[in-house]
Amino acid sequence: MQTDVLIIGNSAAGLSAAETIRKYDFDKKITIVSKESGPAYSRVLLPYVLRGKLDYDNLFIRDGNYYIENNFYYIEGLIVSVNTESKTAVCESSEIIKYDSLLIATGSNPVKPPIPGIESEGVYHMWTKDDLDHLMPHFNKDKRVVVIGSGFVSLQAAWSAVCKGLKVTVIELADRIMPSVIDNKGAEILTGKIKECGVDLRIDTLTLAIKKRDDGTFVIDLKDQSSIEADFIIVGTGVKPNTSFLEETDIDIDRGICVNRYMQTSVDDVYAAGDVAGGPTAFGDQHQIHALWPTAIEMGKVAGMNILGKQFVYEGSLNMNVTQMYDMTVASMGQFTDNLDCDEHLMPESSGMGYLKICAKDDQIIGACLIGKTSAMKIFGMLRPVIRLNKKLKVDITRLESDLQKLTYGVAH
Ligand SMILES: Cc1cc2nc3c(=O)[nH]c(=O)nc-3n(C[C@H](O)[C@H](O)[C@H](O)COP(=O)(O)OP(=O)(O)OC[C@H]3O[C@@H](n4cnc5c(N)ncnc54)[C@H](O)[C@@H]3O)c2cc1C
Repeated sequence: MQTDVLIIGNSAAGLSAAETIRKYDFDKKITIVSKESGPAYSRVLLPYVLRGKLDYDNLFIRDGNYYIENNFYYIEGLIVSVNTESKTAVCESSEIIKYDSLLIATGSNPVKPPIPGIESEGVYHMWTKDDLDHLMPHFNKDKRVVVIGSGFVSLQAAWSAVCKGLKVTVIELADRIMPSVIDNKGAEILTGKIKECGVDLRIDTLTLAIKKRDDGTFVIDLKDQSSIEADFIIVGTGVKPNTSFLEETDIDIDRGICVNRYMQTSVDDVYAAGDVAGGPTAFGDQHQIHALWPTAIEMGKVAGMNILGKQFVYEGSLNMNVTQMYDMTVASMGQFTDNLDCDEHLMPESSGMGYLKICAKDDQIIGACLIGKTSAMKIFGMLRPVIRLNKKLKVDITRLESDLQKLTYGVAH
């Protein structure tokens, strides 16, 4: 078949691009391909469904009619290869799709660490709707789950298990949790909170092997510690961009697909966006993967505009993580990690916001990290444009909120 625009990926980045194109051009033939079945859903909401905070049906962000109403040609299938010279993509079913413009919005997939037994049935990830479908029947009170990894997604999975009354162990190889999302102090506070919630959290712990017994339960062997038992296991030890079907192409890939400010790849008429793409950031990095939903939406929009030929330049992504877990609001934005060359300002305890660190350099706020109360999120909301637009502000932490209000709205509220 022939299409004007082929979009591989039916999620944040792909749909954002498709809708942007459709906004300006109703006739262009847009074909969307996804290896996952059913209408689009949000991965962000998976943990909320798992812990019973959201109904399953609310996972879906578009319904079946959406594709017809928007004149999108939707194919459920796996793309196995792309030829950028003949401008064709091949589906697993052998169908060949010829395109004028191609957008790769294939996201990423979890990686499995080399632990013997990790391929056993009963060892899951929490990344897709299929993973959720496999996990949900196990989420019953008093079941024992071992979560391997303590990043953002793993700790959300563990928190869902706590909420459902399971017995939870988290195993982390490194000496602290969530290294890319919060700073050392934040990790220390959250670790305390996780343990208070009854999780057996073990840092500095190497998983040696996963052994499945005849009765379906597991024994997990650990280095220098006694083995632990589990009814099922969740593995969350990092992800890898989905680029394997591009092996035969000349598209530059450096972990993710390298894109410029127009979301163009190194090959003409081929664009990439979302978790699969390494793009420019608000801090001047050229090819960084943020793996965040809002970034995928922004990149998709930029790709869509440029597929239309509108010369739309991306201002660069600004990382922002926000979640509620272990009865805390956990959030970070921009540059906030330890050992940065910057001034650190801590919100006083009397604010009641919890641990809130603001990082600034040369009278410019560059990032923030929060383990605390939702009340602090209004500060985060105001910080986003301030960081993005490089607005000058001499930080006086005691009056930060009113200074930000003045800067953002022109008045102190
Ligand atoms: C549990 C969980 C919680 C998260 N929480 C947050 C959060 O709180 N905040 C936040 O900002 N982000 C969060 N994220 C990350 C966020 O979900 C991603 O950044 C976002 O989904 C990226 O969108 P995307 O369109 O780039 O890729 P994806 O959403 O990964 O979609 C990829 C699409 O490509 C398709 N595909 C892949 N390969 C092929 C192929 N070869 N052929 C055909 N189709 C293919 C897939 O089927 C899918 O439709 C979370 C992710 C997870 C898993």
